[in-house]
Amino acid sequence: PVREHIRSFCIIAHIDHGKSTLADRLMEHTGLLGERDKTAQYLDRMDIERERGITIKAQAVRMNYEADDGTVYQLDLIDTPGHVDFNYEVSRSLAACDGVLLVVDAAQGVEAQTLANVYLALDADLEIIPVINKIDLPSADVDNAKAEIEEMVGLDASQAICVSAKTGQGIDELLEAIVTYLPAPKADPEGPVKALIIDSWWDNYRGVISLVRVMSGTMRAKQEVRFMATDKRYDILETGVFAPEPRKLDKLEAGEVGFLICNIKDVVDSKVGDTIVLASDGESDPLPGFQEVQQMVFAGVFPTDSNQYADLRDALGKLTLNDASVTWEPETSDALGFGFRLGFLGLLHMEIIQERLEREYNLDLITTAPSVKFRITHNDGTVEIVDNPARFPDTGDIQMIEEPMIIGRIQLPEDYLGPVIKLCQERRGIQQDLTYMTTTRVQLTYELPLAEVVFGFYDQLKSCSRGYASLDYDHGEYRRANLVRLDLMVNGEKVDALSLITHKDNSFFRGRDLCVKMKEEIPRQQFEVAIQAAVGSRIIARTTVKALRKNVLAKCYGGDASRKRKLLEKQKKGKKRLKAVGNVEIPQGAFHAILKLD
Ligand code: GDP
Ligand code: MG
Repeated sequence: PVREHIRSFCIIAHIDHGKSTLADRLMEHTGLLGERDKTAQYLDRMDIERERGITIKAQAVRMNYEADDGTVYQLDLIDTPGHVDFNYEVSRSLAACDGVLLVVDAAQGVEAQTLANVYLALDADLEIIPVINKIDLPSADVDNAKAEIEEMVGLDASQAICVSAKTGQGIDELLEAIVTYLPAPKADPEGPVKALIIDSWWDNYRGVISLVRVMSGTMRAKQEVRFMATDKRYDILETGVFAPEPRKLDKLEAGEVGFLICNIKDVVDSKVGDTIVLASDGESDPLPGFQEVQQMVFAGVFPTDSNQYADLRDALGKLTLNDASVTWEPETSDALGFGFRLGFLGLLHMEIIQERLEREYNLDLITTAPSVKFRITHNDGTVEIVDNPARFPDTGDIQMIEEPMIIGRIQLPEDYLGPVIKLCQERRGIQQDLTYMTTTRVQLTYELPLAEVVFGFYDQLKSCSRGYASLDYDHGEYRRANLVRLDLMVNGEKVDALSLITHKDNSFFRGRDLCVKMKEEIPRQQFEVAIQAAVGSRIIARTTVKALRKNVLAKCYGGDASRKRKLLEKQKKGKKRLKAVGNVEIPQGAFHAILKLD
C-alpha cells in the first residue's frame, strides 16, 4: 500500500487492563488469527508470559484491514509490557509509532501506569485514541472511566471507543477509528536509509534478529549496512514482518516496522536504540536513541549442586543473548560457593530470570535477597559502589553511605490513604505531594529509598489497599543514610549470603523479625539450629529451630513398601533448592525471608 495507508501504533495501558487481549481481537478481526490459534494473548509467546499472564517482551505484528470505504490499510501493531520493570520496552516501542491506543479498564479506571504511559506518548508527540475496555463486566463504569480520562489524563473522552476485548464488541469501530484518527507515517522512502532498532534477540536457527522501524529510505536484502553505535558492517540477508508468524518480504520501506536478519553472531552488535544506515552513505546523525537500561536490583545466583556451576555459566551466556537487560559477573560466597552476581531491572525481572534459568536450562538455583547499589565514601575519601551486602565494609572505615532514591507516584482511592501513608512512612518515605485527581482518587508522591521498595513494598502496598493502589516510579538521586549491615549467623557461623543492609533505626526490629521468619523457613534437622542476628559484633536477636525428634520412616516401619518409597521420593523432592551451609541445610525461602516480613 501507499504510505497514506500505513498506520503504525502501539497499545499502552496499566498492567492487566487488556492490551494483549485487545491485540488478539484486532488480529482476529483482520483475519490474522484463525479459530485454531485461539490461545489467549497470542503475542505473549514465552511460556512464562502465558503462565503469569503478563507481557515481558514487546511484540510487533502486521495486519491488513479493509476499511468501510473499501481502502486496504496496513496496520503495524506493537504490543508492550505494562509492568514498571519493563518501562524501557514501552519507550522504545513509542519511538517506532505514530499513534497509540490508550486502554483503560472500565472497572478500574485510570491507574498509575496509565498516566506514566500517557506522559511518554505525549513526550513522543503521538496521537492518542482513548479506548475503554472490559465494558462486558458487570462492574464496568464507562462514565467514571471517561470522567477520569478527562480529569486525570486531560484527554477529550468524548472520542473514546468503548470495547470488550473479550467478546469483540466495539472492535470494528476501533479499527475504523485507527485508520481515521491516527496519522500516516511522515517518513520518506526515497531518502537515505535510516532505521531504528526496537529490539533484537537470538534465534537458534537464524542468529540475531533485529526488529526495526525504517524511518527513511528502503531496506532490502544484499544491502551492506552499518550499525552506527558499534560501527560494525553487515550484509542484509533477509527482511520481513511478523503476521503473526515471520514472513519474508523483499523490502521494508520508510514508515514500516519489520525484522532484519544479517549474519550477526552476538546481540550486543545489534544494540537496541542504535541506528542502521547504508555502509556506502556518508556521515549522518544517528536517530535519537533510547536511554541505556539500568540495572537497579542485584542478587547472587548459585547452583544448589556445585557441579552445576559450568551449566549455570553456559545458561547465563545463552539467556543474555536474548535479554541484554541482565548483567552478570562471577561471585564467590563463603556459604554458597561459586556463582554469579546478576543485575536486574527490578524484582519482577529478577523472578522471571530465575524462573527461566531453572525451567529452560534445567538448573536448581539459590538466589540471595536482592540489594541495590550503595555508594560508600571511605575515611580516606575514596568512593566505592557496593551492590552486595556481603562486601559492605565494617563501620570503622565508613565516612558516609548514600543510597539510591526513587520518586514514587501512588494512585489510590482516598479510603486507603491512612494505611498507605503509614506504609510509606515506615519505609522511610518523605511525602512530596498529595493531590486529589478526582473527588475520590488521590495521587501521593513520595521520595522513597529504593532499598525499601525492593523489600516487598509493592506487595504490601497492594495488601493495605485491597489491591486498589497502584505504583509508578522514576529513579531519583542518591541520599545520605545511616545504614548498617545486618548479619545472620546459623549455629554460630556468619552466613555471608544472608547479610543485608538496613537503616540503623530499623535494624533491631528487622533483626528480630528476620530470626522469627528464618525459624519458619529452616526445616528441623537432626540437631538444634541457633539463628542469630547481629550488627557488627553485637547480637540483637536469636531464635532456635528445635531438633527433629521422629524419624520420618518410623511411621511406616514394617508397613507397605510403596508408601515408604513415596515418602522417600517426597523427601528427595523437598530437598530441591536446599543448600548445605556448614552442616545445616538452608532452603531457598530462608534467603528471601526479608521479602516476606510484614
Ligand atoms: P495486559 O496486561 O494489558 O496485556 O492485559 P491482558 O490482555 O493480559 O488481560 C488481563 C486480563 O483481563 C486477562 O485475564 C484477560 O482475559 C482479561 N480481559 C481483557 N480484556 C477483557 C474484556 O474486555 N473483558 C473481560 N471481562 N476481561 C478482559
Ligand atoms: Mg500484555
